[in-house]
Amino acid sequence: ARQVALSAARGPGRTADGHPVPLLANVGGLADIDAAVLAGAEGIGLYRTEFLFLDRAEPPSAAEQAEAYRAALEAFPGGMVVVRTLDAGADKPLAFLPAPAREPNPALGERGVRLFRRFPEVMDAQLDALARVAGEGLEVMAPMVATAEEAGWFARVCRAKGLPAAGVMIEVPSAALRAGDLLARVDFVSIGTNDLAQYAFAADRQVAAVSALQDPWQPALLDLVAMTATAAEAAGKPCGICGEAAADPVLACVLAGLGASTLSMAATSLDAVRAGLAVHTLAQCRQAAEVAREQTTAAEARTAARAHLPGLG
Ligand code: PEP
Ligand code: MG
Repeated sequence: ARQVALSAARGPGRTADGHPVPLLANVGGLADIDAAVLAGAEGIGLYRTEFLFLDRAEPPSAAEQAEAYRAALEAFPGGMVVVRTLDAGADKPLAFLPAPAREPNPALGERGVRLFRRFPEVMDAQLDALARVAGEGLEVMAPMVATAEEAGWFARVCRAKGLPAAGVMIEVPSAALRAGDLLARVDFVSIGTNDLAQYAFAADRQVAAVSALQDPWQPALLDLVAMTATAAEAAGKPCGICGEAAADPVLACVLAGLGASTLSMAATSLDAVRAGLAVHTLAQCRQAAEVAREQTTAAEARTAARAHLPGLG
């Protein structure tokens, strides 16, 4: 109880001039939900549901799934809970589906939402389980969406199930480039900076030798985020960020300055991000974002942004 009171005292994410930036948690299992509550998260911005499906011979029942989703909603009454539909692929195969063809590049293969064009029953069952618990706060989003057509398909299926809010992750550059077209079909977007960097720089997340290209300060990545946030603002729809970039307190200010409406991260990063936002105005965050995008390298972008965010020490 003492810890819960402590986290409540941390208050919501906001800039020094009171612009709200709700701070949410990324979770990948039931233990993470407790940690998110204790860390003072205002909700869940990315509920990775792979843990329910991987390493088992049969898909989880609707009741088992509903229980896992309900746990998140009950942990955050009045807060938002964004559940991502299963993000499986050749590198994370599902034992209850026919064995996938060997793919030389699983990151570029039949993964995420792509898998469910061929096996719609798995996504159908997941959305049915989500519809069972749907109420205030529940939002559902699809991973690995590349086109407006895919976004439209996902949104139609969600609506047919009576789900209140359907969105897509922006983690493929084509989706960022045409974010307006996707936003015309969904209720919100959430940028996954991990995969967006992987695909923008053609640098496999799993390959350490190319990890420098995964640096979320790369100006090209900032441009893709800016493009998406601008499209969301024009559409009047939320644009969250749920990749690791949001966990860096300096970059979090920049992302808020670029127009992110929420930031979602590992629970352990929430305090530092909350503190960083609290000592800078939205105007400072915007300025830091602007100067970062004027740079040519990731290191320069970070240095330039930091110089405009004096509260970070
Ligand atoms: C991302 O790609 O940035 C993301 C948040 O999803 P994941 O890390 O689960 O691929
Ligand atoms: Mg991803």
